[in-house]
Amino acid sequence: MKDDVASLGPRQMNRLRVLETLYRHPGSTRADLARRTGLSRATVSTLVDELGRAGVVAEHEGAGDGSEPGLAEEAPRASGRPPMSLSLVPGAAFAVGLDFGHQHIRVAVCDLSGEPVVDEWSPAEVDHAPVESLDLAHELVRGALRTASIERDRLVGVGMGLAAPINHLTGELEANGILPGWHGLRPAAEMQARLGTPVQLENDANVGALGEKAFGAARGVEDVIYIRLSAGIGAGLILGGRPYQGVLGVAGEVGHVLLDPAGPICRCGNRGCLETVASPVAVAALLERSTGQSVSVATLLELVAGGDRGARTAVADAGEAVGRALSMLVNALNPELVVVGGDLARAGEVLLEPIRLAIARHAVAPAARSVSVTAGALGDRAEVLGAAALILARSPRALVERVGS
Ligand SMILES: [Zn+2]
Repeated sequence: MKDDVASLGPRQMNRLRVLETLYRHPGSTRADLARRTGLSRATVSTLVDELGRAGVVAEHEGAGDGSEPGLAEEAPRASGRPPMSLSLVPGAAFAVGLDFGHQHIRVAVCDLSGEPVVDEWSPAEVDHAPVESLDLAHELVRGALRTASIERDRLVGVGMGLAAPINHLTGELEANGILPGWHGLRPAAEMQARLGTPVQLENDANVGALGEKAFGAARGVEDVIYIRLSAGIGAGLILGGRPYQGVLGVAGEVGHVLLDPAGPICRCGNRGCLETVASPVAVAALLERSTGQSVSVATLLELVAGGDRGARTAVADAGEAVGRALSMLVNALNPELVVVGGDLARAGEVLLEPIRLAIARHAVAPAARSVSVTAGALGDRAEVLGAAALILARSPRALVERVGS
């Protein structure tokens, strides 16, 4: 990445600073831009005019989200005209997000503001059929780009989320036992060969964290744990504003910490992992004895919403277990926010309150005091939007290259 930036001339570097600032702070005024980039007001104005002529930056009346009232130097002028705020033109670039669930593939085409212009999904047996899944994803992406009628040169790339740890050195999945059939595959290279467009792969919980950070509950928060309670349990970490994956991409595998030494054998080969007691499927299975029939996750959530006592007990106990596991991460990382996503998050406060209580009980007091626990704002779109955000973050660089020297 450093080499890439070094290959830009000084004028392009300045454009990149302006575009990256507007990507992170849409609605900034020219004064905000000067302050945030360290460039002079005159330079900012020249750059903004150039980028406006190139159709990449647009100016509109009134201060947007990006300006901070306390710092606004640009008070209404003598003419009474309000300050003009600046944003990237949403349709100047697009990114595709792909979310490989255990039983579905979802695709979204997002513009520069993160707004999905297409959002579709298809059922798929992802876990056991990698090649078929990659072929289906290829068809879905091509179909979505056709539907959105996006010109090839406006597409920055494709981001892809998958439910396994990803070794970023080799591009291979560390999926033994976690995602049978996919171990040793290099899914980004496979997709790139099919699509002929840059593809970036990331773990599903990590893209969920990115989605909530870019467009959802964790907007503006620098230290976040996103925990996803779906078929599996995983966490995505954002530390100091940056995603953290660890040496082999395994960071955040909180679903496989020991909760019950006498518990059942987990799919990872260990015993009594958090996932064996708190995944939505494990929680739903607890009701089979009391109801005398097999209970799906959808039924579990209906029972919770209807006030069923047994279902609420099962979800609350799962919340307690999740909170106990999270308390170790809260001690280790001292985050500001825990965002809870995945299917089980739809149980709302029945799940969240026991998580909060367990963190308060088991984490060290100052770390427990400084963390909030909230449900995700994006629901089941967090992963696909986060996968797109992975690519959108590179769009300022792509736009600088398109505008030219
Ligand atoms: Zn496990």
